[in-house]
Formats: sequence, C-alpha cells, structure tokens
Amino acid sequence: MEWQPIHKSLAALQVSPNLVDYVQSCRTFDWAQVHRALTGLPDGQGLNIAYEAVDRHASGPRRNHLALRWLGKEGEVRDFTYASLAEQSNRFANVLCTLGVNKGDRIFVLASRIPELYIAVLGTLKQVCVLCPLFSAFGPGPIEQRLALGDGRVLVTTERLFQQRKIAEMRARLPTLEYVLLTDVPAHLDSSVLSLPQLMAAASPQFTIPPTAPEENALLHFTSGTTGKPKGALHVHQAVLFHYMSAHYALDLHPDDVFWCTADPGWVTGTSYGISAPLCHGVTLIVDEAEFDAARWYQILEEQQVTVWYTAPTAIRRLMRMDLEPRQQYDLSHLRFIASVGEPLNPEAVNWGVNRLHLPIHDNWWQTETGGIMIANYAAMEIRPGSMGRPLPGIEARIVELLENGHVRVVDSPTVEGHLALRPGWPSMFRGYWHDEERYARCFVDGWYISGDLARQDEEGYFWFVGRADDIIKTAGHMVGPFEVESALLTHPAVAEAGVIGVPDPVIGEVVKAFVSLKPAFQPSETLRLELIGWGRARLGSAVAPKLIEFQDNLPKTRSGKIMRRLLKARELGLPEGDLSTLERSAEEAESGATDAARSVLP
Ligand code: ATP
Ligand code: MG
Repeated sequence: MEWQPIHKSLAALQVSPNLVDYVQSCRTFDWAQVHRALTGLPDGQGLNIAYEAVDRHASGPRRNHLALRWLGKEGEVRDFTYASLAEQSNRFANVLCTLGVNKGDRIFVLASRIPELYIAVLGTLKQVCVLCPLFSAFGPGPIEQRLALGDGRVLVTTERLFQQRKIAEMRARLPTLEYVLLTDVPAHLDSSVLSLPQLMAAASPQFTIPPTAPEENALLHFTSGTTGKPKGALHVHQAVLFHYMSAHYALDLHPDDVFWCTADPGWVTGTSYGISAPLCHGVTLIVDEAEFDAARWYQILEEQQVTVWYTAPTAIRRLMRMDLEPRQQYDLSHLRFIASVGEPLNPEAVNWGVNRLHLPIHDNWWQTETGGIMIANYAAMEIRPGSMGRPLPGIEARIVELLENGHVRVVDSPTVEGHLALRPGWPSMFRGYWHDEERYARCFVDGWYISGDLARQDEEGYFWFVGRADDIIKTAGHMVGPFEVESALLTHPAVAEAGVIGVPDPVIGEVVKAFVSLKPAFQPSETLRLELIGWGRARLGSAVAPKLIEFQDNLPKTRSGKIMRRLLKARELGLPEGDLSTLERSAEEAESGATDAARSVLP
C-alpha cells in the first residue's frame, strides 16, 4: 500500500530545527561534542545523570527556571524550579546516606506519577545507587518478583500501595529488602517502615555527589514483557550522554520548550525521556498524575502550552477513536512537535495527526535495552508514513541475516527484510540482563546487537518495521508481518485497533487471523466481518490478507500499551498464557492483585 510522503518546509517550522542536514550531521558526528555539551561532575569526578539533569542548572542561570510542573489528579498543581528540585533530591540522597544505603544498592520505586517519585529517582542517582522503577498498577506478584530478582534494598512507595499490595507480608520472603520508605505518613511505622517526610525534613539540603565513574550502574529497567518474561536491563551513568543527544536530535528540544512525555517512569521511556533527557536540556517538564483521558490531555496541551509532546501509538489510536476536532475545540497553537514510540505507528495515525492536529506524528524506534532512541523521524525531514525513520547520528543500524552457522550476514540490498541489528558502543546501551549473563551474551553475534525485531530499509535509508521476530507469520510460503496487516485494517472507518496472529494450518503453515476492536459508533456483525475480509484482500492481496476476523472489545495489552500478540495466540490455541505480570488490567483487578499473584511466573 502506498502512502504519500509528508514533506516539510523549513520556513513553516516554528523554531530552527536541531538537525537540518541529516547526512552531514551523521558524517561529522563526534561523541566528544556531546561530552562538551554536558558538564561532568566538578573537579573531573566523573559523570552523573542527576548532576547533568538538575545540579548544573541549579548552580547556573536556569536556577529559577521551572523544571517540573506536576498536575495532580484532582486539579492540584505543584511547581519545582531547578533549584528546588536540586534541594529536594539532595535531601533524598542524604536520607539514603543516613540509612547506610550505598553505591550500587538497588532502590525500587513503586508509586503513581507523584513528585516524590521524581525526587527519589534523582536522589537515588545522586547517591550512585541503582534505581529500579516499578509500575504503580502492578499487583503483589509482579512487585515481589522484581524486588526478589533485583535484590532490592529499599522500596519507596505510598501508604496505600504498601497496604493494598501487601508489602509487609512479602518482606519475609525478601531478605535483602531492609527499608520501606512511605511518602505520605507523618511518622515512622516501625524501625524499617519509615516516614519519608520525616526523614526528608531532618536531612540536609546540601549534598555532594560522590565520584561517579561513567560506567557506574545507574538504572535497572524491566522490559515490557510483550514477548515473554520481562528481563532486567542494566544501564550506566554515561547513558546521560545519549539521553541528551537523542532528545536534541529526535525530539528537537530547545531550551524554552515545555515538554510532555506521557509515559510512566515504570517504563524506560518514562525515565530516559520522562526525567533525564528533558531536565538535561533545562526545559520545563510536565508530569500528569492522571491516566489517559482525551479531553484532559487536550486541555493539558492547551493550558500548559506544551510545545513538544512525546506519546505512544496506543494513546494516539485512542484519541483517533474519540473523533474529536482538537484544533477547533482547543488552542494548540504552542504545540510544534509530536513524537511517538513503543509500537509501530500506523500510517493512518500519522495522517490523522496531519489532518486533525495539523502536525505530523514522528515515529521513533528503540527498546529498553538501547536506553534511548535509535531510529527516528526528524523535525526538518520528510516523513514516510509507516516508516520509523533513520538512525540517529552516531548510531549504526543495519539489516542482517542470521545464518545457520551462527554468524550474521549484513544485507546490502535495500527492501530485503531481515533482523534489525545495531553496532554496540553508544553510551545508553544496556550492560547486562540482571542475573542472566547467558541471555545477554546471546544478543550479540559477530559484533552486532540483534534487536529481536525484523525490518527492512529503503533506498534512502529509511527503516520500515516488519514485526517482532517471534510474531512473524509464515503463510503459504510468505512471511507476513502483523504490522502491515493491522495497518491495512486500520484504514477502515470502523476499526479502532487490530492485533494479527498466525493460526497453525496443516496446508498453508499458518492462517492470518485478525482480532479487531471497533470504534464506538460501530457494532460487530457478519456483514462487517465479510466487509473487513474484502477490505484486507483489496489492499494486501489474498496471500497476506487475514482470512479470519474476530471482533474483540479490548485487545490484551501490556501496561505500556503494546498489543500482546503472544497472548492472543496462546488464547486462540488454548496454550499456557505465560508471564502476565505486565498485562494491563482493570483498576479493580490491580487493586486486589489477586490475579497477578496467581498467574505470574516467579523466576
Ligand atoms: P519484551 O522484550 O519483554 O518482550 P518489549 O520488547 O515490548 O518487551 P520494550 O523494550 O518496552 O519491551 O519495547 C521495545 C520493543 O517495542 C521493540 O523491540 C519493538 O518491538 C517495539 N517498538 C518500539 N518502538 C517501536 C516503533 N516505533 N515501531 C515498531 N516497534 C516498536
Ligand atoms: Mg524486547
């Protein structure tokens, strides 16, 4: 299916873009330049994420610039300047010191997007402890699983989550967990369940970050669990170089920006780009505590005068489903750049952005393991709807073939599908899977990092996502990527979302089956089912088009919003559902946590 490229005119952009000449920027790229853009700890004591994000601004001209504006669920607003964020995170680092929590110890954070979470993250990094953020909707099972796997020493959480997630009960099974710090109790509950406000009030607002080697561990991030049991990817402090550089190029951040990243810090996007990168750039970061709500989101864009917005395909598809006219109903005149990550961004969604938001949506690709954006569409460059764009300067990405002899062959001709591979060496590359050296080693072949995704590259170097290697469907001699089929279905006016799998078939290998959820104005019917089959055939040809279509209201998704095709398939085939710790559930299910505990597979 052909989509019209979206051309850009430099004159029409509201600010001068950071990346104008792609080829030239790639050719002249030099990591030393990125080092120079950051400060480093005073007296050559190393490189620390929190110092670059906060302290260097707090001791410079941006001291009183608004660093973080927090929008509470009930309408409250809390503002933090760079100076106040520095002071608060200093206090938190001192709290850790007082408790004897040291370099390398794992600090877990389990909270919704509240200011204390952001302060704890920055304070943890200052004390050179390893931060492990958890998604607040996790039930007891996934929480315990991760605390055990990561040997957590401290857990920062709220009183409600402490009670509801039954943290006290699981502590008997977590011998390394020494302290639980509650963000919202006025006094210590006992000698190890402590009041964070009380500790913070007693702590000094001054703190000197200890020497931090660039290779010091900083972040432990669990993957989304889309393809199986989540893995703990470890990142180091010099990742900050990449956070900074990638936000400069791929998010086009400028000092006066008001930036909103909708991802939760429970996922890597919510820390790399929801905390580190924007603060490193000294911009104003918007944090919304509430969950998705179309009207609220448009209102935030309007009222906070957001200029750069980083979100995800799942959210964009939900906005599309609402059928609102955002440009007519809201003043979005400050918004100048939109980017998306997490799943393939269907061409339909890119075009919806152009038509309804009057801005294209810039897809970019990366993973928990890569720590930052690897392939992107840029502000000044043409967008080819459905393409993830081109590698960032400093990043070498190629399509490779995995050979039977255990080696790889780099594919030189364009349009050939293969494994998306990256040449290791960028600063935010993961340094290991926690307690799984063997799995880490398997990711590397002949000096390439094999991402696990399949893609192809066109003549101009744009990358096109085909699917996860695990999700590829083999039907009648064809290799079919679910993305292509889902994107075709999404062009039908009734379709809100689609998840495509292969169902084993004795004759043709696998039959393409689509699970489809409909927009509110449409009802499932046999007529519509047949119409969608015809729609697919007309656009994809009969070899690739889905032969089976099933209507399903809510497609199973991870909490980070990715369609779990492996679960659609397991359910279709009556196979074990595997690790469901990251499956998005209703609020009630998460509250009780019962299903999580019962279903999750402990390591
Ligand atoms: P797990 O590794 O546990 O199965 P996951 O791969 O979903 O989970 P993440 O690291 O959060 O965990 O997600 C990275 C993956 O998300 C990528 O490997 C890719 O499959 C998908 N992805 C991210 N961005 C894009 C994009 N722009 N286009 C297509 N796919 C994307
Ligand atoms: Mg993955």
